[in-house]
Amino acid sequence: MSDWSPDVARLTAFDDQEWAEVERVYAGRLLAYVARRVADAEAREDVVQEVFLGAVRGITRFDAAYTFEQFLFGICRNRTIDHLRRRAVHGVGIGEGDEDSHSDRDAVRFDDLPSEDASPSRVVGADDLARHGRGMLAGVLRDWVQETWSAAEFRRLMVIEALFRGGWRNRDAWERFELRDEAAVAGLKFRALKRMRALTAERDKTGVLTNLWGGDEAEPRVGFDVAEVWKEARVSCPARHWLARSLAGTLAADPDGGPAGFVAFHVDELGCDNCQANRDDLARQDEGELDALLEGVRASNLALLRSRTIA
Ligand SMILES: [Zn+2]
Repeated sequence: MSDWSPDVARLTAFDDQEWAEVERVYAGRLLAYVARRVADAEAREDVVQEVFLGAVRGITRFDAAYTFEQFLFGICRNRTIDHLRRRAVHGVGIGEGDEDSHSDRDAVRFDDLPSEDASPSRVVGADDLARHGRGMLAGVLRDWVQETWSAAEFRRLMVIEALFRGGWRNRDAWERFELRDEAAVAGLKFRALKRMRALTAERDKTGVLTNLWGGDEAEPRVGFDVAEVWKEARVSCPARHWLARSLAGTLAADPDGGPAGFVAFHVDELGCDNCQANRDDLARQDEGELDALLEGVRASNLALLRSRTIA
């Protein structure tokens, strides 16, 4: 089961069939995302329909530096927040919306991704970094995650993700992962930074990004900014088939955590929202809601697609 992604050229040409496939493949995970935040079933379907309409309208701004799923989830997050906000304005009360209010800024930022004016990053500065640098940093982090995964160093992976993406303090990581002492955490971090700096140098001919890691005292320069890129580019999100195997209980768990330990940590402890949505989707028992949703989505999308191709 590989992770399917669409032919964006066909989507940009408003190809009915390709869009129908997109709806079929992604509606379930989008619905799962919305379902964690919107209680009313009918409203959920409306939100997901709006996501697909937004995707058709925005497809020309799709940025290949990101995956198609990231593009959809970015729109989905914003439509969900819009919905919760509208509901709050109409006096139903905020309640559930509160949970998401802290991510307003994220949402704006995330939707900005496919456009030219990507949000300024504080890593190097708005001018030099922009999209190119962010893309390169994401690539370095992804390389590091992949090689750490391949080496089956799952505890190391969890510790670094906790520190870099989760913003944990050394002490918290030390306690959670039962390391010898806080110095052991600092040591893991130091080695990870050293390796990332080397990976950066391999890619970065201009030296702009290599500088961002600083000299030996890299720590002060890294922190929230790397967390931002780590999250946005989803550098450590396991592919969907890993989530499926995690649900089925067929992933190896060893004393170091193993893939099972990592997936549980990433999805449940760090609370990755995209992975939660994918897992909820995979675990769905009742397909009824999904069938009704797909019908509605197909009708509204088809109307929009036809209006685009006739013009
Ligand atoms: Zn994830």
